[in-house]
Amino acid sequence: HAKIVSKGSIAFFNRQLEKKATEKHILEQELRNALDMHAFHCALQQKVDIRTGAIVGFEALARRVDRHGIMHAPMTFLPLANELGLLNDITDLVICDLERELPRLDARFGAGVRYSVNITPNQAANMQFMQRLVEQLRNTGRPESFMLELTEESLAVTGPFQSHVLPLLRDAGIGLSIDDFGTGYSSLATIADLTVDELKIDRSLISSIHNRPRSQSILRAIESMGTALGISVVAEGIETMEENLYLMAQTGLRIGQGYLFHKPQLLTALLQETPATPRPGHDRNNREPA
Ligand code: C2E
Ligand code: MG
Ligand code: MG
Ligand code: MG
Repeated sequence: HAKIVSKGSIAFFNRQLEKKATEKHILEQELRNALDMHAFHCALQQKVDIRTGAIVGFEALARRVDRHGIMHAPMTFLPLANELGLLNDITDLVICDLERELPRLDARFGAGVRYSVNITPNQAANMQFMQRLVEQLRNTGRPESFMLELTEESLAVTGPFQSHVLPLLRDAGIGLSIDDFGTGYSSLATIADLTVDELKIDRSLISSIHNRPRSQSILRAIESMGTALGISVVAEGIETMEENLYLMAQTGLRIGQGYLFHKPQLLTALLQETPATPRPGHDRNNREPA
């Protein structure tokens, strides 16, 4: 088969590889520059009690802000940052942003709301990083105002997370939330054992409820389990009034997060905006394109 690979096609193949390598190199340079410039910031998205409209918490989401002021979502930098071991520095910047603005956030939303920070499986398995993170949150003097959002992959029943990290979090009063629930493979027993504080039902389950009646039964069951175990259940990705919100309410789910209520906003923008009672579908201050 070697015969059909001509010299020309090898040269072409090499050029393609080189081009890919150069593109990656440029992205890597861009990422490192952005870190040097502290160009990563914290955006917040509200978690809303759909019966009262009250804001019960916020999720912190990383954004890169370029020199034109344009925001870039995590999918544009997270995978590479993870690969290059730079994600921890990004998380540091996000938390620093949040810490700095806590007094103003308190003044605006009350001291009772909790702030969630996302952690990848790699980060969760890194004891040094997790110790530093807990220390950083303890230094705010109010670690119980924070939660960590982890995916099911992070919670392997054996390993350093269970034996070392979890006790650290518990001891500090930092909350534990399971993100993208319903997409992984952890059993309900794991959740009971872990004594998690929050479950976030993945958007993929929410977006299919209107054409999958069985999903509604599953959501109803998750909600009753949450109520029985004292776990708060959050429905992610509420985008539409009729399909998502209405059906969500039908299943008894109480806490929602999604574009229908609020889009993630940079902290600075959120704090600048004039306070208004949030009404679904009437968020005048969306700063992110749909
Ligand atoms: P996630 O933790 O599941 O976050 C929810 C994602 O859904 C966010 O995307 C949010 O902007 C988006 N979202 C919220 N409401 C809606 C909606 O109604 N419809 C739709 N289609 N999407 C909605 P984002 O900000 O792009 O973040 C993507 C993922 O990147 C996050 O998923 C999280 O896993 C990760 N991530 C974000 N920030 C950080 C961070 O600081 N550290 C780490 N380790 N991961 C992060
Ligand atoms: Mg999350
Ligand atoms: Mg999620
Ligand atoms: Mg997700």
